[in-house]
Amino acid sequence: PVPHLDISVDNVSVTYNNARLALYNASCTVEPGTITALVGPNGSGKSTLFKSIMGFLQPNQGRVRVGGLPVQKAQKRQLMAYVPQADEVDWNFPVSVYDVVMMGRYGYMNLLRMPSQKDRRLVMSSLERVGMVPYRDRQIGELSGGQKKRAFLARALAQEGKVILLDEPFTGVDVKTEKGMIDLLLQLRAEGHTILISTHDLASISTFCDRVILLNRTILAEGKTADTFTKENLEMTFGGLPITK
Ligand code: ADP
Ligand code: MG
Repeated sequence: PVPHLDISVDNVSVTYNNARLALYNASCTVEPGTITALVGPNGSGKSTLFKSIMGFLQPNQGRVRVGGLPVQKAQKRQLMAYVPQADEVDWNFPVSVYDVVMMGRYGYMNLLRMPSQKDRRLVMSSLERVGMVPYRDRQIGELSGGQKKRAFLARALAQEGKVILLDEPFTGVDVKTEKGMIDLLLQLRAEGHTILISTHDLASISTFCDRVILLNRTILAEGKTADTFTKENLEMTFGGLPITK
């Protein structure tokens, strides 16, 4: 069984070039064992918040904790796994799907990176769970958008992260693949994982997300999906943009 871990973001501010704040005094909580959707327009700071939670960038101000631990400690214990946004990865690096998924095991290996039987077993079971076994020897750059997403989700599974962060996993993914990924996320929640996902598919959020966090450089609202995902809140978050929900 997977321990229920929370994410706590406390007054986080981030600037990239000492210019405009990408995040300003952002405070929110991802409740343990939930699927939580992070929603906001382009440039609202979603990926910046993900990177702050992963410890990929150091906020100028504020504090992030995962399972009660500072992110660096949580990261050392492999508590968080990350599925990056597609346009942030150079997909043409010459590496097979199998090797991408094996990267999820690197944090458990010594410098020689000799996979153990357990590492290989976990890579295969992770490929199985996302339906990517037939593609294990393909180069990652040759895959379709949805297949790449599933390969990186398999990497997160192989890492055995308790908290799984997915940055726009459904962008450029067909409906059937999205449905399969949502089913898998529901299984992972049942196993005890805490899942934070950013998505532009507003229509599907109420079908599988327990909670919603609305972001536009700061947290505008958070709570249970039914209470938070209101027309008023969405208009506040997306400004003048038409809401299709
Ligand atoms: P989202 O993921 O919601 O689209 P981001 O977190 O990627 O938003 O970006 C938030 C803001 O920070 C945007 O104004 C973006 O241009 C800026 N930004 C993001 N990454 C960088 C970077 N590496 N260098 C400079 N500015 C950045
Ligand atoms: Mg982003």
